[in-house]
Amino acid sequence: MTKVNKNFDNLVPNYLFADIAKRTNAFIEANPDKKLIRLGIGDVTLPLAPIVVEEMKKGCDELGVKETFKGYPDYEGYAFLREAIADYYKGFGVTISADEVLVNDGAKSDAGNIGDIFSEDNIVLVTDPVYPVYVDSNIMSGRKILYADGNEENNFCAMPDENVKADIIYLCSPNNPTGACLNKEQLKAWVDNANKNNSLIIYDAAYEAFIEENDIPRSIMEIEGARTCAIEMCSLSKTAGFTGTRCGYTIIPKELELDGTNIYKLWYRRLSTKFNGVSYPVQCAAAAVFSEEGQKQTRENIAYYKENAKIIANTMDELGIKYTGGVNSPYIWLKCPDNMGSWEFFDYLLEKINVVGTPGEGFGKNGAGWFRLTSFGDRENTVEAMKRFKELFKK
Ligand code: PLP
Repeated sequence: MTKVNKNFDNLVPNYLFADIAKRTNAFIEANPDKKLIRLGIGDVTLPLAPIVVEEMKKGCDELGVKETFKGYPDYEGYAFLREAIADYYKGFGVTISADEVLVNDGAKSDAGNIGDIFSEDNIVLVTDPVYPVYVDSNIMSGRKILYADGNEENNFCAMPDENVKADIIYLCSPNNPTGACLNKEQLKAWVDNANKNNSLIIYDAAYEAFIEENDIPRSIMEIEGARTCAIEMCSLSKTAGFTGTRCGYTIIPKELELDGTNIYKLWYRRLSTKFNGVSYPVQCAAAAVFSEEGQKQTRENIAYYKENAKIIANTMDELGIKYTGGVNSPYIWLKCPDNMGSWEFFDYLLEKINVVGTPGEGFGKNGAGWFRLTSFGDRENTVEAMKRFKELFKK
């Protein structure tokens, strides 16, 4: 008899985006003449940079010619892309070897799959609020999950508790959904904690490209001691608009050993068994992101989103609404005014000013009473939404 993985019964149903869609669609149906502005989306809206498209097309052309045709790519990604990524890290002072980079089809795949190489009896620690993939993928494997509280008191930067010992720790900085960033000292505290307990940090740097302040690390590998306790995951989704193109990478220090086992080798074994690599044209496109021209062009898009974030953050400042994020992050995580609940605030904004955001509750218990706005929309809509905010909340 077939038996299914009963751990799936332990997943908490997350209707967040379905509920948002349901309430939004009902509103549109009842108010067809109102102009709705969506600041809830986590997806990018600007097109790929011209050089990225150009290099992707060149890659396609090569596949159409016998002499340059390519079959299965290397599991870990082509050397030209891994070297480009290692050079990019060098650009902000971090030395990693191209041999420590493993290219993938986006950070979600590796963040969700990395658990394959770890035993089910590891205790996992995540920060709350949390990007749900870390939680759900570990529930699917039957692991126990502990939560480190991010809240108003610690500006949503949860810190290690010496009395809590976890085997696998997920950190995300700049954070989705809170936009909060760990500074060097805070990240060092996590690294020290992990080294002391022989635990692993899985560091999600998906929003690294939005960092502008010097004391915010762009990579956990900047921190002394990280190479013996951490792996890093990153994505071109938000860095270069690859949400639909699909490419990211994981960095595993070659010397990282846990439980007497080399982690790079173990992950490589898993990778080569279950993954056949990223397509050549996509890797060409990804390498273009790290070229001089690619950096210039993709940074223009990031600057555009960051300006949107600033417009939102300035409005919150003006209205005296508390928030985190907005500086080194595309997200603004705000405290719902007048002690409203997240969903209450969602309905209020939808009804009164026809603006859609994301209720914080969807990211864990500490999201209750908080709300996420994103800067991935277009300028005109962002400005208009903030104009409506000011009219609604000015005292
Ligand atoms: N990590 C975080 C924190 C994210 O917010 C996202 C996407 O929203 C991802 C990973 C997934 O990125 P990708 O598109 O590379 O799978």
